[in-house]
Amino acid sequence: MFSKLGTICSVSISSLSLCLLIGSIQQKSAQAAIISLENPGFEIPEQTDQPFPGAGFFDFNTPPGWGLYDPNGLIPEDASLATSFTGGWKPSVAFFPTIPEGDQIGTIFLVPPGAGEVGFTQNSDTIIQPNTTYTLSVAVLNTPALPGAEIFAGFPGYRLELLAENTVIATDNNSVVVSEGGFETATVSYTSANDDIYLGESLGIRLINPNLNNASGLDGGNGIEVNFDDVELRATSVPEPISVLGHILSGITLIFIKKRRIEQ
Ligand code: CA
Repeated sequence: MFSKLGTICSVSISSLSLCLLIGSIQQKSAQAAIISLENPGFEIPEQTDQPFPGAGFFDFNTPPGWGLYDPNGLIPEDASLATSFTGGWKPSVAFFPTIPEGDQIGTIFLVPPGAGEVGFTQNSDTIIQPNTTYTLSVAVLNTPALPGAEIFAGFPGYRLELLAENTVIATDNNSVVVSEGGFETATVSYTSANDDIYLGESLGIRLINPNLNNASGLDGGNGIEVNFDDVELRATSVPEPISVLGHILSGITLIFIKKRRIEQ
């Protein structure tokens, strides 16, 4: 009798501890948080100029909140339609009947193909923590080759990067196919270890037009332009390995006790 009571109590205590443990893990897994970014949808400033009739409204400035990543010096200070440029763009319906978020997107226009890459970069105020998955999600848009704008035929590729200070720690190098005139969401993630070498460093992101010399467009061109929108960065806590081990051990204990109970 005392033995059976002891077994029941053991099962109850073990079940309780298992439930608490599972609850603890589920709670940890659910701790996803959006990391605040500046101007993540390129809605600032509102575009009001039309440098190219029919294209909508755009400018030749790197959007506020973003830095210019231009290792080859492709973007001149007096950027214009005659040069490579970056800017905000409120596209006409002819170019994009719908866009991923709001009314505007960020654009990177580069000539000639293969001359080098340019990107938007932003340092979040987030310090890299242990046992955390950081995920960057970005909508990538492929400018269509409308009549009179055939230079946009093809696509020069895209690349997303997660950074620890200035070190690239994860990359999505053009893995998602974006159709002519369409847009797709691309993502890249980095999961930090308990003793990760980047702990304490600030998390940054880059959205890049790699300007691939891929002859995807007319006359050996590459489509020239990549657009980005709806940038989202989130952090999700992951269970520490010791919790997973504890979970497994508790499960084994429970099975063993139940087996003994059946045998009795
Ligand atoms: Ca937008």
